[in-house]
Amino acid sequence: MSSVRRKAYLEAMQIDTWRRRGSPSPSPVPAQLAPAVAQSADWAELERLVAGCRRCALCETRRHTVFGVGDRRASWFVVGEAPGAAEDRQGEPFVGRAGQLLNAMLRAIGLGRDQVFIANVLKCRPPNNRDPLAHEAAACLPYLEQQLALVEPRLVLVVGRIAAQNLLATDAPLARLRGRVHRRGDAGPPIVVTYHPAYLLRTPSDKRKAWEDLKFAREVAERG
Ligand code: SF4
Repeated sequence: MSSVRRKAYLEAMQIDTWRRRGSPSPSPVPAQLAPAVAQSADWAELERLVAGCRRCALCETRRHTVFGVGDRRASWFVVGEAPGAAEDRQGEPFVGRAGQLLNAMLRAIGLGRDQVFIANVLKCRPPNNRDPLAHEAAACLPYLEQQLALVEPRLVLVVGRIAAQNLLATDAPLARLRGRVHRRGDAGPPIVVTYHPAYLLRTPSDKRKAWEDLKFAREVAERG
């Protein structure tokens, strides 16, 4: 990506200046073992399972399940928390303003939305956008785990505290999860955590830190 284009995207994220930081050292996190309901499913089977899923009560209030979108052979896999109202209506993750900011964040590191795979921990919207309950996340996580297994990304970028805590089985605050490489198990891809775009819309002063996270994630992905 040319410096001119990168500058344009950074401006779209309303980040004015660049700042370097030291290379954080890898710090593994213990793996979480979730039920293996979908462990051997291929894409078609997985889509069928999610579309008809009634493993938790969110099936009663959803309009659409939100399976995930993007390149099924992508190097980057973006994980969010759960569908919001627009996502529930459209059946697609990260639409609306937060989705546009996520797209700008990806473009800032040279990636189009269609070059990554994007999915949430929860495939159904929690009413009134409340935080996912522990048993809902536990019920839904196997779908995400199988998506990760099928895509085999080089890097997982987790956006937001809720997604990170569920995926990494931790209650650590976001500040302690950023700037490090996490893994789920020995063979899993590296996982890097950053802010959720919806949070960045509310707190633009943290966009600079998100940009640092994205550069770090790119370094980790390039390292392999
Ligand atoms: S949130 Fe996940 S586990 Fe719950 S009904 Fe939806 S797809 Fe099934």
